[in-house]
This record gives sequence, structure tokens and C-alpha cells, in this order.
Amino acid sequence: MKQYQLTNLGACCRCHKKLAQTASPMFFTLKVERWMLDIMAVQRQIGLEMQIGPLAGVMGPDEDLAEKIGESKTMMICIECCCRDVVIAALAEGSGWGEQPSPASERTAMNTTPTSTSLAATPLFAFMVDVRKTPSLAAKRRQQVAEWKGLFRIFTHKGPDDWMALSMDECCWKLEGYGLTKEEQTDGVMLMAGYCRLIDEAGLIHYGETEHEACESLVARLTEANDQTQQLGGGK
Ligand SMILES: [Zn+2]
Repeated sequence: MKQYQLTNLGACCRCHKKLAQTASPMFFTLKVERWMLDIMAVQRQIGLEMQIGPLAGVMGPDEDLAEKIGESKTMMICIECCCRDVVIAALAEGSGWGEQPSPASERTAMNTTPTSTSLAATPLFAFMVDVRKTPSLAAKRRQQVAEWKGLFRIFTHKGPDDWMALSMDECCWKLEGYGLTKEEQTDGVMLMAGYCRLIDEAGLIHYGETEHEACESLVARLTEANDQTQQLGGGK
């Protein structure tokens, strides 16, 4: 389904949430049509069947027994509403049954491309633009991690189970008497290669299920220690 087709679907016909606002990316479409039995035609067919039995299907006039009333309507319904009680008639009325600008609109809705101006003016499109502008939680966390890394010279590494994080500044400061090489002072991998066990035993490494979690717990300790001693986070 292309963007203009999604836009044409609009909002959920039950809760009126737009596509990107619903709980799940899955959605259903409902095609609703109203039909009316042609009672006279039905009576003729029944009469014929009573006279000639199953042959009525072959030898009869084969006329339409029901007629479609008005245009059909394709509606979007979100996954949440699909699992709730729905009144089809209310949905059909609520989503603007008979409010199409022209009788042909329903038939062409799924295979025409509206002009770009009408696209931009639709609420769904406007909403999608907003969504793209708003950073996701994951993006915010990545940004936060980058800030912390800059502030405390944090080195992180993804192990088989957890993420680990340590502050290069803190490690250099704590290992001052060990004569760290230039590489060991600037490269986390080199530092870990030489002093992994010492650093871990000193409790300088923090772990977490995510990089953010490991950094967060490290930063919490560093800032706490900094508040108390006014010494850490230093080395600058
Ligand atoms: Zn809904």
C-alpha cells in the first residue's frame, strides 16, 4: 500500500486514532457494502423452484435477487479496535458514509494519486511529518550516551551477556602509580588488555543490559563521588 493509499484510509473508524498513533503497526481494512433484497424477484425465484425444483437455477431468468445501495466504503480499523465490540452500521456512518465528494471517489480511492498539496493538507500526512521530527526514545538514549562519553571519557564494550562501561579518566587517576602507556591512557581496549582484572576488582567497571544502562549506573556513581570529594570526573 502506497502513502496516498494509507492517507486515503485516514484514521481508525472506531477510535479515530491515526495509523502511526495506534498501539500496533498492524491494521485491518473493512469494505462495507449495503445491499437490499428484491422481494419480488426472490418470490419469483421461490415460486419457480416450487414448480420445477433444482432446474429453476438453470432454466429461470437468473435475475439479481439483491441490489447494492449506494457506494461501498473501505475503512481502516486498528488492531486494538478489532478485538473489541463493533457496530458495523455505526462505524460506516461515523467514518463518513455518503460524504464522499463524488460518487466515483470510492472506486478510484485506491488507484489514483492525489496532488501533493492535498496530501500535505491531510492530518495523517501532517502527523507523520511530526513523528519524523520527534526523536525516538532510542535516539534520545543514544544521544545521552554520547554526551556521557564526552563528559567522563567513557569506554564501553558489548560482552557476550552485558554491556560494560568504565571512565578512562577515573581509571587513569586510580592507576596513576602503574605507569600507564599513552595508548593505555587513551584506548579502552589497550587499558583493559593490561589492567582488566585490577580495574574490575576496584569496582570501576559497571555493567548493564544496554549500553545506556551500563553508562547510567557508572555516571550515577561518578557524579555521586564527585559531589562528595570534588575530585573525580577530573584528570582534566
Ligand atoms: Zn481503533
